[in-house]
Amino acid sequence: MTETVTNWAGNITYAAKELHRPRTLDALRVLVADSVRVRVLGSGHSFNDIAEPGPDGTLLTTAALPPEFDIDTAARTVRVSGGVRYAELARRVDAQGLALPNMASLPHISVAGSVATGTHGSGVGNGSLASAVREVEIVTADGTTVTVARGDDRFAGAVTSLGALGVVTFLTLDLEPAFEVEQHVFTELPLAGLDFETVAASAYSVSLFTDWRAPGFRQVWLKRRTDGPQVDFPWAAPATVALHPVPGMPAVNTTEQFGVPGPWHERLPHFRAEFTPSSGAELQSEYLLPRSAALDALAAVDGIRETVSSVLQTCEVRTVAADAQWLSPSYGRDTVALHFTWIEDTEAVLPVVRRLEEALDPFDARPHWGKVFTTPAEVLRGRYPRLGDFAALARGLDAEGKFTNAFVRDVLGG
Ligand SMILES: Cc1cc2nc3c(=O)[nH]c(=O)nc-3n(C[C@H](O)[C@H](O)[C@H](O)COP(=O)(O)OP(=O)(O)OC[C@H]3O[C@@H](n4cnc5c(N)ncnc54)[C@H](O)[C@@H]3O)c2cc1C
Repeated sequence: MTETVTNWAGNITYAAKELHRPRTLDALRVLVADSVRVRVLGSGHSFNDIAEPGPDGTLLTTAALPPEFDIDTAARTVRVSGGVRYAELARRVDAQGLALPNMASLPHISVAGSVATGTHGSGVGNGSLASAVREVEIVTADGTTVTVARGDDRFAGAVTSLGALGVVTFLTLDLEPAFEVEQHVFTELPLAGLDFETVAASAYSVSLFTDWRAPGFRQVWLKRRTDGPQVDFPWAAPATVALHPVPGMPAVNTTEQFGVPGPWHERLPHFRAEFTPSSGAELQSEYLLPRSAALDALAAVDGIRETVSSVLQTCEVRTVAADAQWLSPSYGRDTVALHFTWIEDTEAVLPVVRRLEEALDPFDARPHWGKVFTTPAEVLRGRYPRLGDFAALARGLDAEGKFTNAFVRDVLGG
């Protein structure tokens, strides 16, 4: 069977001519054991060739396995299949009166694929989505399962793993009691005089959006927990109509605004599960750097704003608390994340990405693993102090490099 397999954005067509869809765990084990090279495709929301197995490799999805949701209300944990998307997981968890601590801007993405790339939402006290993971079950190169839990020496490499260790079949996540969130949108926050730390800490989750056509933010999205502090936001005016973060896109695609309280999973993402997230015709890049450098980094982007805005749909600034995953872009440091939704024109976008990376170079910026970047691998390696430990872990679990592809080989070097 020959099929054309692409990512969500359509900018990557995988060399593999078939997407394997095993329906049982046993079939998955046999497929892995019998393949020379394997990569897993999650929900395909990455913008680069991180999932590419190469022409002789096997590309597989776990989405056809029977989904499992094993919720332990007493322990407040859920054991969930890796291919499940956050939208479905969140509904199940919420129905039991429980919650995930945070979500990304969209609920359409798979759990295993999201944590593999260090996917995050926002909030000075919120770590990346991988921070909620307490155990992963991985089908390794010979088809057997290895379970790695918090407390295991290998755990800090096992969650944000770029898919390089094996097929993540199940993850166990920490939960907390369900909570409600109000979403408030404000407009026109100037860059001049911005007290970034105070603004970023003014709600449970804060996102600043700009088109970089002027030095300031067109929109500020605050997600306040109703059981948390109600901090005033005197720096910008409340929006008078519902807004979409991408200018010109319909607000109906976005989660409820104007402070209407609602369940955590219908407010923490910006985009509703039943609609296309973001603009749908786009590329994305994102750089994560120390939060203490936020104002300097924003000034650096402002310095090239004509270049950046020429191919930009929207830029989002968020915060992520430090985590301990060796390959997490927010490893070991409280982080500010500068995200860019570009037009869907690779040729026009790449030179701007390179210019942006030059501007952010002084800030030790780590690119999002799932987005477009051109940072050379040797530079990246210098930005991950535990990369060598990860490479050793990968060799230990997968001596032949069955789960290594060109992307991973480049990153790990050697
Ligand atoms: C519209 C849009 C909005 C986005 N918003 C955000 C955001 O708010 N925050 C953010 O941080 N990122 C965001 N992203 C990026 C996105 O979260 C990441 O690219 C994420 O990895 C997507 O998950 P996925 O399941 O689609 O993974 P894929 O792109 O399918 O795969 C990513 C990696 O995970 C590996 N993988 C997937 N499943 C498994 C498995 N079961 N076992 C082993 N390896 C596996 C793949 O091999 C690959 O290496 C956004 C992307 C889009 C398109």
